[in-house]
Amino acid sequence: MAKYCGSKYAVAFNSGTSALHGAYFALGLKKGDEMITSPNTFVASSNAGLYLGANVRFGDIELETGNIDASKIETSENTKLITPVHYSGNPVDLKELSEIDNVKIIEDGAHALGAVYDGKKIGSLKYSEMAMFSFHPVKHITTGEGGIIVTNDEEYYERLQLFRSHGITKNNLVNESHGDWYYEMQELGFNYRITDIQCALGLSQLKKLDSFVKARRRIASIYNEIFEDNPYFDVTIEKEGRKSAYHLYPILLKDKFIKSKKEIFAKLRANGLGVQVHYIPVYKQPYYQKLGFKMDLCPVCEEFYKRELSIPMYPTLSDEDIEFVKETLFEVFGDF
Ligand SMILES: *Cc1c(COP(=O)(O)O)cnc(C)c1O
Repeated sequence: MAKYCGSKYAVAFNSGTSALHGAYFALGLKKGDEMITSPNTFVASSNAGLYLGANVRFGDIELETGNIDASKIETSENTKLITPVHYSGNPVDLKELSEIDNVKIIEDGAHALGAVYDGKKIGSLKYSEMAMFSFHPVKHITTGEGGIIVTNDEEYYERLQLFRSHGITKNNLVNESHGDWYYEMQELGFNYRITDIQCALGLSQLKKLDSFVKARRRIASIYNEIFEDNPYFDVTIEKEGRKSAYHLYPILLKDKFIKSKKEIFAKLRANGLGVQVHYIPVYKQPYYQKLGFKMDLCPVCEEFYKRELSIPMYPTLSDEDIEFVKETLFEVFGDF
């Protein structure tokens, strides 16, 4: 994975979530520190900060990509970390984020394995400390469950390994060794190890990754073409110099259809189209509500959530499938 991304090190975990937990730990995120992430994500991006006692804040997003809006981020003196999420696989403006003073960046790349920013793969880490990828079955490649952190920094690399295995090490001892059996528990780590059996699957999957990404991008370019100027919905945009890995293909309902989204969704499902919504803004979750977040905290994210539907996107989608997606969408939207 390090070789694929163009990074120096990679440390595998038993999930993307535990990998994020490890990365935030390796960075030194702790109680009282603040981290900022996107609300348009799976709950794990921010949960991993809560595990360490950090204060989570959310930055609003851009409507045209669903990514965090770097120009609107306001940091405080306690802000230590920004975790951008490359939503749908579409790269965030990493350069602009990196120009924010005194914060470190850890990328949530769960959607973005194989995506390209400024000619380099996500995970090449020009603008960030670490990047996470997930190997959950819905992601680009899978190990059943699993995840990984890539980094160029040897100290992070060592702390990631420590955290993954109970905080136990045989290197860089604090006390004097008692003999060859000696090990030390230096931090409160977890058992977050991935198994060799899962890694064997991952290695075989990795060989197919480029063909998977190519297939997703081909499907996206057909979708882009057949949905151009349609009267029902808009699609997200790929900004210049970026190539999305298209984990998702989000569509955004035009004004007239917003009020019928629930019915449209149900009808699409009833007609055999496996649509989904990504995501319910994280701060709306009851647990986050208990923490005191406002129900409509981020106006653009609210707008995105009202409009967004994800339509089928996976490498084996055939040309006939694509035609079926189009016909079903146009037929159902036509009834509203
Ligand atoms: C899947 C996902 C995760 C968590 O990965 P798991 O391997 O399921 O733990 C985190 N962030 C995002 C954006 C994801 O899509």
